[in-house]
Amino acid sequence: MSAIPGAWRRTAAGAGLLSPEGNVAPTIFAEMSAAAVRTGAINLGQGFPDEDGPAEVLEAARTAISHGMNQYPPGRGFPDLLAAISEHQHRFYGLVVDPVTEVIVTAGATEALTATLLALIDSPDDEVVVFEPYYDSYAAAVALAGARLRTVPLRRPDFQPDLEALAASVTDRTRIILVNDPHNPTGVVFTSEVKAEIVRLAHQHDAIIVTDEVYEHLTFAAPHVPLTTLPGAAERTLTISSGGKTFSATGWKIGWIHGPADLITAVLTVKQYLTYVNGSAFQPAIAVGLRMPDAFFTDAAATLAHKHEILGAGLRSAGFDVAMPQGGYFTVADATALGGSDTAAFCRAMPEKAGVVAIPMSAFVSPDHQGEYSGLVRFAACKKIDVLEEAARRLAAASF
Ligand code: PMP
Ligand code: GLN
Repeated sequence: MSAIPGAWRRTAAGAGLLSPEGNVAPTIFAEMSAAAVRTGAINLGQGFPDEDGPAEVLEAARTAISHGMNQYPPGRGFPDLLAAISEHQHRFYGLVVDPVTEVIVTAGATEALTATLLALIDSPDDEVVVFEPYYDSYAAAVALAGARLRTVPLRRPDFQPDLEALAASVTDRTRIILVNDPHNPTGVVFTSEVKAEIVRLAHQHDAIIVTDEVYEHLTFAAPHVPLTTLPGAAERTLTISSGGKTFSATGWKIGWIHGPADLITAVLTVKQYLTYVNGSAFQPAIAVGLRMPDAFFTDAAATLAHKHEILGAGLRSAGFDVAMPQGGYFTVADATALGGSDTAAFCRAMPEKAGVVAIPMSAFVSPDHQGEYSGLVRFAACKKIDVLEEAARRLAAASF
């Protein structure tokens, strides 16, 4: 007999959390990283950098450990990190955020998202609107919260949502509009028209906006504009981010949420029973990171943009049709011309055939919409330049 109760089994299977045999399905990132280790392929799958972040940030974590910051931090996070988050939001975006009542530190953006959904979903009829393809934890967290997922498609060539499709998806049942900008996996940065329409619809239908801005400092054309800075947005927006991408420390899992004090309090009530707290020695280090000079942030974006250029050129010469990203770690490329219209099969074969690992777009798309995204593959550009060049050589030499 299975140890997993029937009702939960059905929910988990529906959300793709269980394999058809009833086993825990590993995330696509874990599966593909394991394939890279097994085959010795270059891992352009899971989005983690292969170089450390700024020395000052690493040193601050070492110092914190040797100065005894090894016990539970306060539930909301260390006051100095809360202050650093508030300062950062003011310095980059002109926002005024009360560090005492309007911010909490979380175990990465992942916990921030899950705690937010668990806190704000009231009933099984509540809907969460997300843009599809979506980061894999979204559908899982919506299922855990017991809500319904409504998707708005992002399609090539530009991956911007159609405003009519967006308006049709938001109704009085919408509890949350969840916006990932810059977007994983497509690399799109939403236009100001799209952001304004999200705010208008949230007002019209009394929905809460939750943003996932983990790539906020990795935009290539223009500085990031948080949705909460739009007129009328702040009163109903929770803004989520994390230090993982900005400071190349994805394993530290220091994230945060800010927004209206009553919503933050609601999220805290859940968060305190998910992890309670995390990362005591990493919190002061991320505070150091958030206070780094402007040049650090602009250099990080410029370096990643250059890596995307190298990756994009390599993918084009290997025969992929490339969609250049406007932000974030990932480049999406169409493998149809290489016989990759079944991208899941194509990506499972790629480590053996080409010595490179990537993620099939199917991992970010709900079962009903798979056909619309066939042929698309996500490659991570957050790797050393010589690694990207070697991956490009291998892809060009492979026979698919
Ligand atoms: N949101 C998006 C869009 C991501 O790409 C990721 C992971 N890279 C996360 C959330 C998770 O962030 P964290 O590692 O801080 O939990
Ligand atoms: N966010 C990372 C990505 O999109 C993966 C994180 C994870 O493995 N859960 O690649």
